[in-house]
Amino acid sequence: MKKIQMVDLQSQYQKIKDIVDTSIQEVLNSSAYVNGPYVKEFQADLEKYLDVKHVIPCANGTDALQIAMMGLGLQPGDEVITVDFTFAATVEVIGLLNLTPVLVDVEPDSFNIDIEALKKAITPKTKAIVPVHLFGQVANMEAIIEIAKEHNLFVIEDNAQAIGANYTFKDGTKQKAGTIGNVGTTSFFPSKNLGCYGDGGAIFTNDDDLAHIIRGIVNHGMYKRYYHDVVGVNSRLDSIQAAVLKAKLPNLDAYCNARRDAARYYNNAFASNENIITPTSSSCGNICDTCDCHVFHQYTLQITNGKRNELHQHLLDNNIPNAIYYPVPLHKQKAYADERYNEDDFSVTNKLIDTVISLPMHTELDEEQLAFITKTVNDFLK
Ligand SMILES: *Cc1c(COP(=O)(O)O)cnc(C)c1O
Repeated sequence: MKKIQMVDLQSQYQKIKDIVDTSIQEVLNSSAYVNGPYVKEFQADLEKYLDVKHVIPCANGTDALQIAMMGLGLQPGDEVITVDFTFAATVEVIGLLNLTPVLVDVEPDSFNIDIEALKKAITPKTKAIVPVHLFGQVANMEAIIEIAKEHNLFVIEDNAQAIGANYTFKDGTKQKAGTIGNVGTTSFFPSKNLGCYGDGGAIFTNDDDLAHIIRGIVNHGMYKRYYHDVVGVNSRLDSIQAAVLKAKLPNLDAYCNARRDAARYYNNAFASNENIITPTSSSCGNICDTCDCHVFHQYTLQITNGKRNELHQHLLDNNIPNAIYYPVPLHKQKAYADERYNEDDFSVTNKLIDTVISLPMHTELDEEQLAFITKTVNDFLK
């Protein structure tokens, strides 16, 4: 059996090696290392794929969030609501801009923002909501957009984990994750669903004015060379990373399908294990053949018999990598703890940190590996 990895970037690379190597060599030959043709080509390709008017590439997914908030003109003291259960980047940039983070709980089944908790957290100072499409599943955007409209709030989608996922509205229309709110952001970190071979990120919007503002912010606040109208940042996607991304983008749907196939295999294998809650996709409750709202950046189980930590060790002992995303809720992190928070408001997150475990998930898992992983888990949790 091929060695099991949490993410197998090497096997994925081997399948696209020719085009990736040729593209990188082209960049090297051209010496257009920054803002070369591949950056613009990838930008155009991604705009088409996402069906969004503007993609603004930048240096990483954390910058993308910060720049989106700068572009919207959020001011110190403005409250920004986001989730307690996510990677810290989301709340980090809120803090860096001297905005006030307001953390709320998530839903136990989707791991995404709890709509009732969101409503409760809104105050006259609230200016924006940042839903995170956690583990690859789109949050309940229809409800979020409705609330945002009612209270005149911006919606910034942190789409670092769900690029390629679709959201289906009640009337049947579909839109790509990250293009539904005022602005969306993503990361091209190597292990993300569309990863480059270094750091990268992008911002998406259908708002022409906002796109113009953001294009200046990423480039030192310049709208005309050497005229700095606003305080900006330096955040660029380099040409080599853009060349890799342009080569990989045509495979993104196939990558999403491969992840869903692995998730479906896992779900079926764990269906009758009483100690396991398997992930669901919000559109049908399981992972049917047509589910496209979940692209399984992570495949995350909840272990209900208190043996999560033992399972973690047992899998490691059997050379099955696995991870706890996330072991500490943001409201308990030293950098983000605050007297404003009340433990009772985080009952779901506080439970999840003790029960979740993420299994190997990538585009190259084969059936032999999946059979071994699921048997090892099921035998241990009998
Ligand atoms: C990875 C990630 C980010 C940050 O992306 P970087 O490119 O590493 O800066 C932000 N938010 C979420 C939810 C992520 O998973």
